Amino acid sequence: MTGLTDFFQRPINYLRISVTDRCNLRCIYCMPPQGISLMPRESMLSYEEIKIIVEAAATLGISKVRLTGGEPLARRGLIDLVAMLASIPGIDDISLTTNGLLLSEAAPSLKEAGLRRVNVSLDTLRPERFSQITRWGSLDEVLAGIDAARSVGLSPIKLNTVIMRDVNDDELFDFANMTVDEGWHVRFIELMPFETTDLGFVPIAEVKKRIEVLGALEPCFTEAGAGPAKYYRLSGARGTIGFIGPLSESFCSGCNRLRLTANGQLRPCLASDAEIDLRQPLRNGATKEDLIRLIQEAVAAKPEGHRLGLEDSSCIAMSRVGG
Ligand code: SAM
Ligand code: SF4
Repeated sequence: MTGLTDFFQRPINYLRISVTDRCNLRCIYCMPPQGISLMPRESMLSYEEIKIIVEAAATLGISKVRLTGGEPLARRGLIDLVAMLASIPGIDDISLTTNGLLLSEAAPSLKEAGLRRVNVSLDTLRPERFSQITRWGSLDEVLAGIDAARSVGLSPIKLNTVIMRDVNDDELFDFANMTVDEGWHVRFIELMPFETTDLGFVPIAEVKKRIEVLGALEPCFTEAGAGPAKYYRLSGARGTIGFIGPLSESFCSGCNRLRLTANGQLRPCLASDAEIDLRQPLRNGATKEDLIRLIQEAVAAKPEGHRLGLEDSSCIAMSRVGG
């Protein structure tokens, strides 16, 4: 059987897999300085278990997989997982979201194992500010990671930039200019609420308006189901500028994804605590058909829209769910 569709007629073909809740950084918008309480290691899915779940999902028509975390490259052997997933019939697009710290060394083997493309989180182009936002990271290492990814052909490379008022919103032009000068693909993301942050929110419409001072933004064609960003180009730019407004602009009507947490919970929606446990059934000997039924249950449970930012919304830990 191929082709999964939810109750609201949205085709579901994309699975985001958080491979770990551990991270080698503590970005101020994502984690408190001391980190979060971690999942017990034994509760985390093994790579073999992840593969079994993806095989079942691929039978249902999931064709795109993204590895995220925590920091996915901080989990040992990630390259083996990429190769295991690349061997699954029907999986034709494997991507990675990373903070980039370990990317320069891993890029060639990731490419060889079957990774197609990479998103790198980068919230500032200023070295000192970078170590403040990430609490200790080195900007040079991330830039080296981006270069390495480019040189091995992991393409396109998209940069994810969370905009925070009075923290990095004075760098909008610098990032936008990189789409012209370096052909970067930059995606500006609205800050999402998380219990540890009292950082300043900047609506994505304001970000766009401020960038338009540089010149008109030409809309770019994007495929249906290409994700939550709306893409534009400054005149003459090789790169694009994406805007993602999870709070101020509803993108749920185009949602094509499910999320698998590192401890084996399938999440129909990023912003809801509802989860379907795959780990226990898997460890109790569930068959592929059982897993398929559970995945179908998760698809059926996808809400029409999220309630992020509303009073009764849940506070989500991005490092657990994978963003
Ligand atoms: N460690 C990897 C990284 O940083 O790219 C992958 C996991 S991280 C949780 C995935 C994405 O979530 C990153 O692009 C990050 O910027 C984003 N993110 C984390 N906390 C966020 C928040 N409070 N608001 C908006 N985006 C957030
Ligand atoms: Fe780690 Fe990514 Fe969260 Fe930063 S955004 S703390 S790199 S998981």
